[in-house]
Amino acid sequence: MDFEKLYIDGQWVPGASGQFIEVENPAERRIFARVPRGNAEDVDKAAKAAHKALPAWSALPLAQRIALMEKFLTIFKSQEDDLIDITIKELGSPYSFTKSSQVEYQYVRTRSYIDLAPKVPMVEKMACSTTYREPVGVIGCITPWNYPLGQVIQKIIPALLMGNTVILKPSQHTPLSSYYLADAFEKADFPKGVFNLVTGRGGEVGDALSSHPLVDMISFTGSTSGGITVGKRALESVKHISLELGGKSPYVILPAASHDYTDPIHICFNSIFLNSGQTCTAFSRLLVPENEKETIEKQLVKIAAEYTVGDPTDHTVKLGPVSSLQQYKKISEYIQKGMDEGARLLLGGLPQSPDKGYYIAPTIFTDVKNDMTIAQDEIFGPVLCVIPYKDEDDAVRIANDVRYGLNAGVFGPKEKAIALAHRIQAGNVYINASPRDTEAPFGGYKESGLGREGGIYGMIEFTQQKALFDSGK
Ligand code: NAD
Repeated sequence: MDFEKLYIDGQWVPGASGQFIEVENPAERRIFARVPRGNAEDVDKAAKAAHKALPAWSALPLAQRIALMEKFLTIFKSQEDDLIDITIKELGSPYSFTKSSQVEYQYVRTRSYIDLAPKVPMVEKMACSTTYREPVGVIGCITPWNYPLGQVIQKIIPALLMGNTVILKPSQHTPLSSYYLADAFEKADFPKGVFNLVTGRGGEVGDALSSHPLVDMISFTGSTSGGITVGKRALESVKHISLELGGKSPYVILPAASHDYTDPIHICFNSIFLNSGQTCTAFSRLLVPENEKETIEKQLVKIAAEYTVGDPTDHTVKLGPVSSLQQYKKISEYIQKGMDEGARLLLGGLPQSPDKGYYIAPTIFTDVKNDMTIAQDEIFGPVLCVIPYKDEDDAVRIANDVRYGLNAGVFGPKEKAIALAHRIQAGNVYINASPRDTEAPFGGYKESGLGREGGIYGMIEFTQQKALFDSGK
């Protein structure tokens, strides 16, 4: 794969700046690839191409767009080994998780969008009118590094199926897997200009995308601060805006008569230690009943031993390195901050040195107060805050006392857990060991976002409604 080009208007072209951004393997601290440092000129070319391709693409019958997407999916699946390899290299996520979640789950999501596309209510009849859903137009997709393929798939597949054209700007830290998608669109014979890839920095390519007059919508996933900046800029030309942002998600354990907390601890750890804690939905605040705290603390330490850290190419490892030196430093600073603020370190702590890779072991703070920085800020690393609560009202108060509202979980007797879940301000709440439906809506309350991804809800985001009043003569 030639990573040194951009994909614009169906062609692999050099970036206008002639400059590149290096991509580092965080497990080895080795630069192994580089991509063009795109700029406003590249965005302008891509926007013109996407705008030109729009009328024909949106006029194509849905069945034909689906047929092309089926072809894309077949090619996308055939790239599996390369995608696993490149994701491990650019992100450092461990093999088993990379295979199942970072890569294979994206086939499931793509399939789900293909199957649901014909079910999106595109036309609705009323007494005097008919409403039609139409594509929004040219979509600028800006994505983060933590799920390099997943966050892209959640945007580009529904956007394209709904008849929009796309310009993708993946994260500058993990841009490489997106090249395989561009390659698959090319091999699947998507018309030129329908999908475009422009790599680069947020302040350059992201900026240019969110202010370009031919871009009709910005679909952004990333930090809340980045989303606010992009959203403000996009609003200057009243673009559609969809924002999937950060989280500081609570996981509430209700008292168990048996005093055995193995199951909820596993659920919480599988979330906060997944992808080395670099998951927007991570259960980073564990709310425990005050009088069960010591019992739970002992079980936390014991079970944490199962979460091994090491070389991400080792098939048995659970946590690889964190994704970059920047992440390593940021997480380390938060661990130091937690100690300074008086939280008690139950496990882990400051990492030793990043010489052999950006590794950080699972870290658990207990006796955390919800107004501490480590309980309020998204650390985005394998750092869990254990916060004791007095009763259910107190648990709800603590759960909601953050600016975010992306995800939550409640473990306990089902009816009680559901009642508590209804009181938590979050777009998703998991009850006990429930898995999620791929078609369920995903997105945040409060400062965790605007809009929804996933299923029919995620497809509707990429449409706008027109009402025709047609009952008269
Ligand atoms: P980030 O905000 O730094 O960057 C995200 C993307 O936006 C990147 O492509 C970046 O280049 C671009 N960008 C950043 N600042 C920009 C600006 N001012 N103008 C235009 N573009 C800009 O986020 P990140 O560090 O890549 O990702 C981690 C964050 O993403 C975390 O906060 C995490 O919670 C969030 N996230 C949210 C979801 C979700 O679905 N809610 C999913 C994954 C990650």
